[in-house]
Amino acid sequence: MNLWWLWLIAPAVASIGDNLEDFKDCVHACNSMMMCDTDDVLKTIHDTRIQQIMEGRPGDQVAVAKSKRKDLYFYDRRFFQESYRQHPMFDLWWSCAADCNYKCQQIVTHWRHEHGEPMVKFYGKWPFTRWLGMQEFFSAIFSFANFYVNWLAVKPVLRQVHKNSKSHIAPEYARILRQFLYLILGSMAGWLLSTVFHIRDVPATETLDYFGAFAIVLLNFNAIGYRLLKVWRWSGMARAGWHSALLLVYVFHCTKLYLHWDYGYNTRVNLVFGLAALAMWVIHSLLVKRALATSTVDYSSSAQLMPFETALLNKLKVVGINNSKIIPYLPILLNIIMLLGLSFELRDRPPWFQMIDAHAMWHLFTIWPPLLWYDWNIWDVELLKLRQEATKAK
Ligand SMILES: [Zn+2]
Repeated sequence: MNLWWLWLIAPAVASIGDNLEDFKDCVHACNSMMMCDTDDVLKTIHDTRIQQIMEGRPGDQVAVAKSKRKDLYFYDRRFFQESYRQHPMFDLWWSCAADCNYKCQQIVTHWRHEHGEPMVKFYGKWPFTRWLGMQEFFSAIFSFANFYVNWLAVKPVLRQVHKNSKSHIAPEYARILRQFLYLILGSMAGWLLSTVFHIRDVPATETLDYFGAFAIVLLNFNAIGYRLLKVWRWSGMARAGWHSALLLVYVFHCTKLYLHWDYGYNTRVNLVFGLAALAMWVIHSLLVKRALATSTVDYSSSAQLMPFETALLNKLKVVGINNSKIIPYLPILLNIIMLLGLSFELRDRPPWFQMIDAHAMWHLFTIWPPLLWYDWNIWDVELLKLRQEATKAK
């Protein structure tokens, strides 16, 4: 269900920002003024300069920047000192050099804006303005909201798992619901990692964010595969084989990435499992609709199904939908919402007010589907139970 990994498709744009002479000057000045222990940074800047002079560069971008650079020479030490090391948390997340780098991105971006020049990326990323100590405030808040909506689903799904586990007639239904519990727990972990990553973007938090995202993709694949391919009916050995195979895929994928990071490979693997799951959800949704349409029994009036249908309809009423006929199509509709969010992501534009970008919008869109998602699957399992009982009774 969760498609938030699709943002990985967005092409990595080459960064102009970190190659600007103004930026390099600023970083150099800040590091000196703040006396950061940055021998490496200073050496890199120095070496690049020498190389550029040797090669007869700088290019156009640098030439333009140089001509207007005068006003950037007068750095104010107070600006570099501002908000740095005022809070112990800050020390944990922002080293002196990282803080200088951030502030120089802000100075250069502001200066370019004043001179009517477009916002540019630094190290492949937009220069977000920190707020409340968070590097990408809105992406972090929306990620946490995603964590929260998944957390809300723990109790109802757990209740159904318990209820069905106790049932001596049909304990296998608990198996299906347990897959959704795994998906919820995996999603919570994934969204927490995403929150941390957007609070502070460093290689370690980025890696964990990707690992969390793949866990969600794979757990989603597991849940729909388990349901559609009727894995819950397989023997214990076969079921263990199914889970072991997916676990192996996860461990292999993460180990491979850890040893050698490859964005293209990561995207392809996520695409394969994500699109396969998407196709299975659509097929499953249509099969449920067909089963309801061709059945001689009117399940909607069943006392067993009624509370779950009412729960779904109550939520749908909030968005003005009051028709139970739409319920079988919900997985398709929720996937469409995800794809709409994705359409933002594919147009990678500079963030509004240096705060909200397409990625944040994508995280905003993914908040809503889980509110209906797990209710739908509880409803679906109850319907499955009724249909199985009706078949047995024949
Ligand atoms: Zn994110």
